[in-house]
Amino acid sequence: NSVFASVVQAPEDPILGVTVAYNKDPSPHKLNLGVGAYRTEEGKPLVLNVVRKAEQLLVNDPLVNFGYSLAIQENRVTTVQCLSGTGSLRVGAEFLAQHYHERTIYIPQPTWGNHPEVFTSAGLSVKTYRYYSPNTRGLDFQGLLEDLGSAPAGAIVILHACAHNPTGVDPTSDQWEQIRQLMRSKGLLPFFDSAYQGFASGSLDADAASVRMFVADGGECLAAQSYAKNMGLYGERVGALSIVCKTAEVASRVESQLKLVIRLMYSNPPIHGASIVATVLKDRDLYDEWTVELKAMADRIISMRKQLYDALQARGTPGDWSHILKQIGMFTFTGLNANQVAFMTKEYHIYMTSDGRISMAGLSTRTVPNLTEAIHAAVS
Ligand code: PLP
Repeated sequence: NSVFASVVQAPEDPILGVTVAYNKDPSPHKLNLGVGAYRTEEGKPLVLNVVRKAEQLLVNDPLVNFGYSLAIQENRVTTVQCLSGTGSLRVGAEFLAQHYHERTIYIPQPTWGNHPEVFTSAGLSVKTYRYYSPNTRGLDFQGLLEDLGSAPAGAIVILHACAHNPTGVDPTSDQWEQIRQLMRSKGLLPFFDSAYQGFASGSLDADAASVRMFVADGGECLAAQSYAKNMGLYGERVGALSIVCKTAEVASRVESQLKLVIRLMYSNPPIHGASIVATVLKDRDLYDEWTVELKAMADRIISMRKQLYDALQARGTPGDWSHILKQIGMFTFTGLNANQVAFMTKEYHIYMTSDGRISMAGLSTRTVPNLTEAIHAAVS
């Protein structure tokens, strides 16, 4: 008898499960809009030119392999390389569970499906704050302010830095400023999750505005950064956790504890992917080229929004679809319900998460007509 005999089957990941079902489908017309990974018009993954070049440089210059952490702008910011966005969140949560006085962490409702368990598995206690209003298909700003306003002092708050997943709805900069004031006045601890920097507006700087607003006021915060999407390095698992502290002295003690957390979990992160990222970040020309390639990805997604919206209009599909144009980043939160999603998968071989979220990056000019027909049939 196995000593592990009592281990029960873990539930399937709801997002990866979509791809499992898609892979099994023999239809030549099948379309996978479940996974938030960038695809070209031809439906292929994109290896960025800057990544190819950086890899070439790495081969020529093994010294860059010794770059460990990413740029540290000020001495009171400690940055540790982590395993993509997820690992950065997990390390941050583990550190907070061990060293921070408040264990309650607020996540938006809805949010990325992994958030709750990443935090509970670190021993934090998860609560939600209102974020999205299904009626307006926009931000429930009043609800957000009320819920954060009644959070206990010191509570940790997860904020999507930009391109909120799954809703595609971000606060305006005025709203960010109000959120900042409220959180600072209540002593809430901001923990930014930045998984799509560059995908909201096409600009790395514009998409970092929310984080920079909180850093500029001199207060403390955490930020988990993923390079999976904006460098197309999904499998390399490159990310970073930064903790902004009040003083350099605190930052250096925090860093020592972060290294301990990491050492006990997996000792060290792998170096290859991080070296590619560091090479791009440090080289002016490669950096500029990256911003151009990133903008092209963001623009293709924006053009897919327009094409899908126009096609639904032309088809006369009932309902207001303007949220397809208004929402930001990789995803559209269509408003389709689980039954409609199941219908579209069964009848049209179109795959997406059951909450009606579609990855615009998985769509192309060729596949818009079939999606339009499917949505039309689902809602008519
Ligand atoms: N945070 C959000 C909001 C995400 O959507 C994702 C990925 O889907 C992640 C974090 C984790 O990304 P990574 O693949 O870098 O772990």
